[in-house]
Amino acid sequence: MNQTDVVFHASLPNFYYCLGGLTMKQSFDAKVKSETELKALQLEGLKWTVNHVYEGSQHYKKKFDEAGVKPGDIKTLDDIRRLPFTTSKDLQEGYPFPLQSVPFENIIRIHASSGTTGKRKVLCYTAKDVDDWANMFARCYEYAGCTVEDRIQIAVGYGVWTAGWGFQNGCERFGAMSIPVGPGNLEMQLQFLEDFQTTAMCCTASMGLLMAEEIDRVGLRDKIALKKMIFGSERSSDAMRRRISDLSGVPMEELYDIPGMTELYGPGTGLDCRYHTGIHYWADYFILEILNPETLESVSPGEEGEMVVTTLMKEAAPLIRYRTRDITRLIPGECQCGSVMPRHDRLLGRSDDMFIFRAVNIYPSHIDEIISKSEGVGSEYQIHLFRKESGKDHMLIKVERAKDLLKDREQDKHLRKDIEHAIKKQIMVSCDVEVLDYGELPRSERKTKRVFDTRG
Ligand code: ZN
Repeated sequence: MNQTDVVFHASLPNFYYCLGGLTMKQSFDAKVKSETELKALQLEGLKWTVNHVYEGSQHYKKKFDEAGVKPGDIKTLDDIRRLPFTTSKDLQEGYPFPLQSVPFENIIRIHASSGTTGKRKVLCYTAKDVDDWANMFARCYEYAGCTVEDRIQIAVGYGVWTAGWGFQNGCERFGAMSIPVGPGNLEMQLQFLEDFQTTAMCCTASMGLLMAEEIDRVGLRDKIALKKMIFGSERSSDAMRRRISDLSGVPMEELYDIPGMTELYGPGTGLDCRYHTGIHYWADYFILEILNPETLESVSPGEEGEMVVTTLMKEAAPLIRYRTRDITRLIPGECQCGSVMPRHDRLLGRSDDMFIFRAVNIYPSHIDEIISKSEGVGSEYQIHLFRKESGKDHMLIKVERAKDLLKDREQDKHLRKDIEHAIKKQIMVSCDVEVLDYGELPRSERKTKRVFDTRG
């Protein structure tokens, strides 16, 4: 059969199918072809959204009135700065149907986050929201280089959360064959890889690693047709990706990360293309601002800050300047793939975790990274910040000697100096390191408290 790539012009309806043995390929990419067109579309979407929430949501109307802003005030994209912020507190206070901006008869589905603290975040969807989400996700498969010939095994959770539905609806919209297995069940996953000749695997990176190890262990590599892996919900480190690639035979460049959060539809709002130069995000569906989490002003292009999102066509629960607390930066310039969709970097951490020490913004993940690369120490640590009588701030980092190392003064001194030196070099601040016995720091099954700040 002939296969011809015909990308329909934006103004034509999205048909795709076999016509007399000729397979036409539909594109789910953005209809805009330049930054100017994108900005015009964003302004249109912003105006629509502001009007829509002002008319449809008491919650938003009240916030707008308090901020002294009316829908008519939004005349340019810069006017977004006049709008009030939305936070997770708004979601909690509005439980169980926060930010609802359409009548109940228009809502066809709800999803909830699997959050462990406080109330779950619940978001409503109209039929159009579900449809838009499927298009966005189909675009992810397209950016990952999938075709309708692909067989996509989906090993993420189906249920009230967004993961399974996102991958599934996106796959069906895209037109590839879906194999909706759900998470876990390693044995069945491997059997399906072989029997159905799965070509793309969707799972968490941890699951990807487990599968890769099994593929290698039972010698399955030559019997399967796996070409790609798409990881959701959890960011994969370079070391992890390398190992997955080595064991499974899937090339490094065919391992993709899909970001996403329940508040913003779910997974599928962006993807790193095969050049892996950052995550293209779907700017025709939402505006991404990167703000200084302290001042809430825009940072300079390329600088780190908090991701703040505003949706452009979401109906049931739109987001107006929603503070995600995730820290990243925009990546300037164009990607080799030619997409006009802008890019942001991988997520660096949560703004809630950031602390300022001697005018340097530091995330515990920065320190975590240095400690995890240091030999001779365990993975547990604590960061203590305090002010001495002189008025000078100090940082003390407590680490544990690795489990199999015996206590030795000289050796401890080396461990200490190595970490102090690495922190000075990489984060550009001075600190003191204290080496404790293994097991001396408290353990927790939940999120462990690591930063102790008594500077007042
Ligand atoms: Zn690209």
